[in-house]
Amino acid sequence: MLRPFLLTSLLCASLAAADFNGQQAMEHTKALVAFGPRPSGSPAIQKAQAYIIQQLKTQGWQVTEDNFTSKTPVGAIAMKNIIARRTGLSGKAVVISGHYDTKRFPFPFVGANDGGSSAAILLELARALKDRQFKNDVYLVFFDGEEAVKDWTATDSLYGSRHLAAAWQKDGTAARVVGLINVDMTGDRDLHIVSEMYSSEPLRRLVWQVAAQLGYAKKFDGPELAIEDDHVPFLRIGVRALDLIDFEYGPNHSWWHTAQDTPDKLSPASMEAVGRVLAETIKKLEP
Ligand SMILES: [Zn+2]
Repeated sequence: MLRPFLLTSLLCASLAAADFNGQQAMEHTKALVAFGPRPSGSPAIQKAQAYIIQQLKTQGWQVTEDNFTSKTPVGAIAMKNIIARRTGLSGKAVVISGHYDTKRFPFPFVGANDGGSSAAILLELARALKDRQFKNDVYLVFFDGEEAVKDWTATDSLYGSRHLAAAWQKDGTAARVVGLINVDMTGDRDLHIVSEMYSSEPLRRLVWQVAAQLGYAKKFDGPELAIEDDHVPFLRIGVRALDLIDFEYGPNHSWWHTAQDTPDKLSPASMEAVGRVLAETIKKLEP
């Protein structure tokens, strides 16, 4: 009875993933961009926080605001990670994360892809997963302070993820995490997600396998690159973590960290591919 079994498992895969809607993710991106540049501590990021929290609560998620203050090269800045949770039965947890702050620049930088698309994908995932029964706890984590306030260094970057990794190591949450998948800049209409080389190899293999099954192999065909991102603080404390990132944004990466990073450079199809792969991978990580 091999054949019916295969048919059933393929059908389940498509059903689990099919809810995620790329157009909805695009609407969230535009809503976030409309608040303007959203660097940590700015009035605009407070509006983004209120928007994210309201959306998550509407979809029935338990929301925790993880408030902390970071010492930065320009002084102390109040920051906030937003953590949404649904509780399963296994005692284990899966984490999908992404940052929602945008890098501060002297020009108007609205970060449609860099900071916008990651938060938007998590928000649409919150809606797509809202009626699903979970075996593992599922966390959607919106990091503040991913971007360097000045120039990227070990201490001026990844403020939110470093803060949460330390907290989760202390309170035991980290030990329950079977996989953390971080998304960053995956709204690019010309999507080629890199094989990020700090990431956990088994987790990358699983996600690439899911992408191929769902017909998205051509969007997961970027080069091998080692990129420091919000997954790294978790890797350092022994959590199996993966970064999904496209690092070729515009001709010669020329839209990255420029005023060119606007919603017209993104596509619903790219966000839908990533969201559906995440939705299916959450299921694959169940016991
Ligand atoms: Zn950035």
